[in-house]
Amino acid sequence: HADVAMYRSKELGRNNFQFYTPAMNDQALERLRIEGELRHAVELNELVLHYQPQVDLHTGAIVGLEALVRWNHPILGMVQPGSFISLAEETGLIIPIGAWVLQTACRQAKAWQEMGFTQLRIAVNLSARQFTQASLLESIKDTLQETGLEARFLEIELTESSVMADIERNILTLRDLKSLGVQLSVDDFGTGHSSLAYLKRFPIDTLKIDRSFVRDIAINQDDASIVSSIISLAHNLKLNVIAEGVETASQMDLLRAQGCDEMQGYYFCKPLPSDQIETLLLNESSTVLVA
Ligand code: C2E
Ligand code: MG
Ligand code: MG
Ligand code: MG
Repeated sequence: HADVAMYRSKELGRNNFQFYTPAMNDQALERLRIEGELRHAVELNELVLHYQPQVDLHTGAIVGLEALVRWNHPILGMVQPGSFISLAEETGLIIPIGAWVLQTACRQAKAWQEMGFTQLRIAVNLSARQFTQASLLESIKDTLQETGLEARFLEIELTESSVMADIERNILTLRDLKSLGVQLSVDDFGTGHSSLAYLKRFPIDTLKIDRSFVRDIAINQDDASIVSSIISLAHNLKLNVIAEGVETASQMDLLRAQGCDEMQGYYFCKPLPSDQIETLLLNESSTVLVA
């Protein structure tokens, strides 16, 4: 199992020696097998995007959709990103996967815009490894050109920990991205270590409040205070603020009362395949027409 052992020690760091039990080798082999399969997932058409609506808290309208990738594995079934995105990151497979996600999401958004949802925005998650890739800018520019989606309708979501990693360099990357005309949003806000001094130097548009703060907002005064502070911070910096993980009416009511702009969560809608999103969009628009 020389290759497996090498694989594991690379993963553990260069100077890390490990003794392996058969069980550990089984695990490593399993991981290698999954990696090999993930490598072909794009070309085998096994990846799918689900979309979760982002709702304006004041009008109730769907203003955006977040694209969330799933792996439709022939044996395992629908595998959630939590089970393969970090493997994709570590192996570099996130680069072709991320390119596929961006392409597919932009093409889909353009198609929905052409159906009449002309202002619909699409949010795409970018992992740290994609964010620091030299060809990032080129690849986003090309994708927008190929799909015909206007840059302002594409929102790039970056996690707080990836933007706060190498700040001076990231400010430059963010400026480059911003110069394309896309929107930038900081995902999982509140879970990383944000320096507020740097936050104001980032050319970002949106803060997404992490769902761990939203969960207990109606029963925990500390969480309610954190959420209301993030909303004030965002608005003082002239940023849009969106709450993720909204599951109940009372969470929604509190967020609205605190002036939060948008929400996303199971209470309104879980992530759905494109055909079901299309039905939802059509129903929503007919509701608006009737009202
Ligand atoms: P995220 O970007 O923070 O996405 C939100 C996650 O919260 C999604 O999980 C979504 O299904 C889930 N969620 C939404 N509303 C609720 C709610 O009301 N309650 C609860 N409990 N959960 C809710 P999902 O789809 O499993 O994705 C997990 C993470 O995987 C994402 O977190 C994102 O970091 C990553 N991810 C997903 N798709 C991509 C992708 O295409 N590229 C990259 N780089 N990362 C992705
Ligand atoms: Mg996200
Ligand atoms: Mg998030
Ligand atoms: Mg999150």
